[in-house]
Parts: sequence; C-alpha cells; structure tokens
Amino acid sequence: MPSVLAYHRPTNLDEAAEHLSNAHHWALAGGTAVVPHARKQRSMDVEMVDLQALGLGTLEIDGDQLTLGAMVRLGDLEGDDRIPHLVKKAARRELPSALRNQATIGGTVAQADPESLLLAALLVHEARVQIHSQPETTLGEYLSGDRRGLVVGIVIDTSGRGSMASTGRTPADTPIVAALARSTNDGPRLALTGVAATPIEANPTAPTNDLDPPGDFRGSPAYRTHLAAVLSARALTEMD
Ligand SMILES: Cc1cc2nc3c(=O)[nH]c(=O)nc-3n(C[C@H](O)[C@H](O)[C@H](O)COP(=O)(O)OP(=O)(O)OC[C@H]3O[C@@H](n4cnc5c(N)ncnc54)[C@H](O)[C@@H]3O)c2cc1C
Repeated sequence: MPSVLAYHRPTNLDEAAEHLSNAHHWALAGGTAVVPHARKQRSMDVEMVDLQALGLGTLEIDGDQLTLGAMVRLGDLEGDDRIPHLVKKAARRELPSALRNQATIGGTVAQADPESLLLAALLVHEARVQIHSQPETTLGEYLSGDRRGLVVGIVIDTSGRGSMASTGRTPADTPIVAALARSTNDGPRLALTGVAATPIEANPTAPTNDLDPPGDFRGSPAYRTHLAAVLSARALTEMD
C-alpha cells in the first residue's frame, strides 16, 4: 500500500502553512529528497503539499541584499549575474545537473545536508531565513534549531569576495571537508562542511576550536579536524 495518501497544491501561504502544521503533511519543493524518502516510508501515511503555486520563484535585489524565493531552482542560480560567484560555484557542485533543475534553495535549506557546499556559501554570505508568520532568523540559527515552518525566502549579502577549498576522494565527489570564506568590511567569514551535523560557521582565527566532527569510512574525526585547519587557511588566503 502506498504511503502517500494525497497531493495538495495550495495557492496561498496561509493555506500551505495550515497544511504543514500537520506532521503527516510534507512540503514538496523540487522533490529530489522528499520523494525518495516518502517512497521508502512505509510506517507512516503522508500527504504531499506542493509549493509550486505559491509564487516563491522570484529573485529581488535591493542594494547588496538579494532575496531568493524558496522555490528558486539551483540550476537558475548558475547563470544569473546577480548571484555572488561563490554561491554560483557552490550550487554547481550540488547534485547531478538534471536534479539541480528540480532542486530548490528552500528545499536545500530545509534538508540541511551536512556536506552541502551551497549552505556553507549561504552562511558566509550572512544568509537570513524568512519563515512564514515567524520572525526572520539567521541561517546558522535555523540549521541548529528544529527547522519547523514554511521557508519562503533566503536573504543574502552579495558584497565581498569569496573562495572555496575542499578535499574529496576525487574532484567530482562531494568533499569530505570543505572551507568557504568571504571578505567583508568587518573581517573574513568562514564556514565548514563535513565537520558537524550541518554546515557551520567557524571562527576564522581559530577554525578548529570546539570542533567535534563525526567519523566515517572517508575520514576519522582527527582527519577531518586536520582538513578543517588546512582548508580554512587555504580558503582565507585565496580570498584576498
Ligand atoms: C542523488 C542525490 C544527490 C544529492 N546530493 C546532494 C548534495 O550534493 N548536497 C545536498 O545538499 N543535498 C543533496 N541531496 C539531497 C537533496 O536532493 C538536496 O538537499 C536538494 O537540494 C533538496 O531540494 P528539493 O527542492 O528537491 O527539496 P525536497 O526534496 O522537495 O524537500 C527536501 C526537504 O525540505 C522540505 N522542504 C522543501 N521546501 C521547503 C520549504 N520551502 N519550507 C519548508 N520545508 C521545505 C521537504 O518537506 C523535505 O523535508 C542529494 C539527493 C540525491 C537524490
């Protein structure tokens, strides 16, 4: 028996949020993560709430502030001149190209993959998350919290220069650890992937302080800590 019992396509945010207040109703954005998950899910009956009719696919620029609607596709970021270079570069490294045309920025943020380069790029660009009927929050707070609510947009600061340094099993593999840096008027910002349950911001002057990375067959906690130190130094140097 299929576990997905119904499909909803709300046309306004209140209706969508009302659906999503029910734990059995799951947001469907690009579907690259949630559809395979629902197909494997046999112990819980779920209903899909498709977000595509909510008008969340726009980009708005106001000075250095760029607001990305939650339904903007990763593929759309790559060719847009308004997107900072580091964000474009990170988006290009996520997922196979066919799936990037489906996957959305809101889905990526809500999914909170620990190895997401795009999330690390958004962190160094001081991303804030707009959630329907809730106060705006920083991406760092959102990732470390319970990630409830309907994400409607992500606001980033487009200024500054960015750089990325990473180590993977091959250049095409998702990096085991990556360091992304960006220069700002208040000094450098740094974010790391592969060292915690989600991408995190790190102190540029002491990147490995308080790190407690997980270990797996690709790298022990000690190896990941070592990579974090080396790659942070490289990213911070290349940014200048
Ligand atoms: C082959 C493959 C490779 C992958 N590689 C990567 C990778 O390199 N990096 C990476 O980060 N991820 C990866 N993923 C995981 C996932 O595909 C991505 O995180 C993707 O960007 C999710 O976006 P989506 O729009 O498809 O989200 P969906 O699959 O539609 O949703 C993902 C989750 O977010 C929730 N959600 C979606 N939109 C919203 C919203 N606006 N508000 C609140 N909740 C919402 C959904 O309910 C679901 O829980 C991979 C998946 C596959 C199948």
